[in-house]
Order: sequence, then C-alpha cells, then structure tokens
Amino acid sequence: MGELITERIRRNARELKLYGLADTADEMVDRAEAGKLGYREFLDLVLESEVGVLEGRRYASRLKLSGLPHHKTMDEFDASFQPELDLKRLAELRSLRFIQNKVSSLILGPPGVGKTHLAVGLAMEALRAGYLVRYTTFDDVVRELRQADQLGTLRNKLAHYQRPHVLIVDEVGYMRLEHADANRFFQLINRRYTRSSTIVTSNKRVSEWAELFGDEVQAVAILDRLLHDAEVLTINGPSWRLRGRGELLASKPPAAENSNVGPTDTPQQPRRRPPNGSHETDPDQIDGQHS
Ligand code: ADP
Ligand code: MG
Repeated sequence: MGELITERIRRNARELKLYGLADTADEMVDRAEAGKLGYREFLDLVLESEVGVLEGRRYASRLKLSGLPHHKTMDEFDASFQPELDLKRLAELRSLRFIQNKVSSLILGPPGVGKTHLAVGLAMEALRAGYLVRYTTFDDVVRELRQADQLGTLRNKLAHYQRPHVLIVDEVGYMRLEHADANRFFQLINRRYTRSSTIVTSNKRVSEWAELFGDEVQAVAILDRLLHDAEVLTINGPSWRLRGRGELLASKPPAAENSNVGPTDTPQQPRRRPPNGSHETDPDQIDGQHS
C-alpha cells in the first residue's frame, strides 16, 4: 500500500516538475516521522527543499551559460600576495553593489596578477546571487560582432550581449580596433550603459585605451560610458605565475657561450608597471599559453 502511494507521489511530482520531491519522497516522509513534524511543518519542508533543488538547477544552468573559462572563487584569491592591493575596493566589488547600481568595474594591472581570477570570482558570486553572467574576451566579442554584422545578425548579437546582468570583457588592450569594429563595440557598450554592469580587465592604463578604440570621437564615446561611476581596482604587483621563482629571475642570464638558450627563451622578470608605460609583454605568452 505504502509503496503504491510512494509510486503515485513520484509520478505526480514528476508531472508537476517537482523533481526534488520525486527523488526524495520516501526520505522526506522518514524525516517527518523521525522528527514528529506537524502537517504545516511537513508541507514547509517539502516546499523549501523543492525550492532548494530548483535554485540549484537554475544556478547550474546560469553557470553553464556564463561561458566562464574556469570556476576560481574569491576565497581562492590570496590577497596577501598583492600587498599594494586596495582591500577596501576589493570588498566594495565583492559586495556586488556595482551590479545593483548597474555601473562598470575595471580591473587593471600587468599580466599574471589575478585580473581574470578576480573577474571570474566576482562572476561566481554574482551567479550565486541569481544574476545572469556572460564571459568573453575583447578579441572574441569584437570578432563575433564583426561576423554577425557580415551575416546581417548584428541586432541579435547585440541583444545577446545586452541580456546578462554582468558581462565580463577580459583582456582589453592586446588589439587595436578598426573604425567599424570600434563602432560595433560602442553599440554594445552603449546598450549596456545604465542598464547593466560590465567588468573589463586590461593590462593597459585607461589613458592608453583611447588609442585602441579607433578615432577620437568614438574612443571618447566608449570611454565616457565605460568609466561613468565605474569601480576601478588596480593591481600593481608581482605575477602569481612567477611566484617562488624570484631567485631564478634575479640571477644573471647565463653567458651566451655556456648556453644554447637564446634571449627570447629566457624567462622575463615580472615587470612592475612602468610609471608611464604599458605592460605589453606577457611572460605567460612566451610558451604560447594564454591565461
Ligand atoms: P591575469 O588575468 O592578471 O593575467 P590570472 O587571473 O589569469 O592573471 O592569474 C594567473 C594565475 O594565477 C591564475 O591561475 C590565478 O588563479 C592565479 N593567481 C593570480 N593571483 C593570485 C592570487 N593573489 N591568489 C591566488 N591565485 C592567484
Ligand atoms: Mg587574464
């Protein structure tokens, strides 16, 4: 008798898409009996756990859709490795207020200091909080918009990039844009402006971005929207990828006659950001690996 009822509960739960209940009906009845729950408490338990299951499924699907390159968290970021990091600003970003306020956030600094890690970590927390997130790199989004334009589907593509509450545009600064590319990128930024948040990471200083975005009028239009009320976190410090290699990096390069290692194969000193310069040399790119 009990089994028949359980089977019917399962069937009906599935019909109603209450998949949590369908899987755990027996278990929940056992828990209710063991805990001597009243009717009201039992109903509450069933609905609460069903909502939990639904939330978990929604989170998993948001995570999948986000296209994040990995799932590193804020807790995995060791802030003590970057003594110059402004912890208040980091905490401000982590509060996700910039997402609520629909402003952008810029994470700047040389290669290997954890810009992508932090962008992803913030995205993971935003996903947990129920926001839709999408990750792309600057190169990819520029290429996608160009291809969409050629196919006559630019409007759809722009709508696709407008949808998420948080858009990460990683690695701004490796590529200089043609006029038409800059114009399409402007359209994307303009559509998101005041409606949703964009996290931009770059190894270039903001003052150098102007050169990237085509002509001056367009560059000003893009920067105006990206920088308006933006939260800016600058990480000036050593590359995490080269940690523990200080001795190797500090020692003199081997004399040419004693070594067949050419200058281009020599690991480079992690460069601090020069006061007026950019950081175009990514030590991680030497072996062709991208971050
Ligand atoms: P960037 O985007 O600035 O070039 P990444 O975020 O790709 O740097 O970081 C490079 C690698 O080092 C990643 O695996 C990242 O998780 C790790 N990393 C960087 N900084 C830290 C840190 N402070 N704590 C823990 N891991 C870090
Ligand atoms: Mg990166």
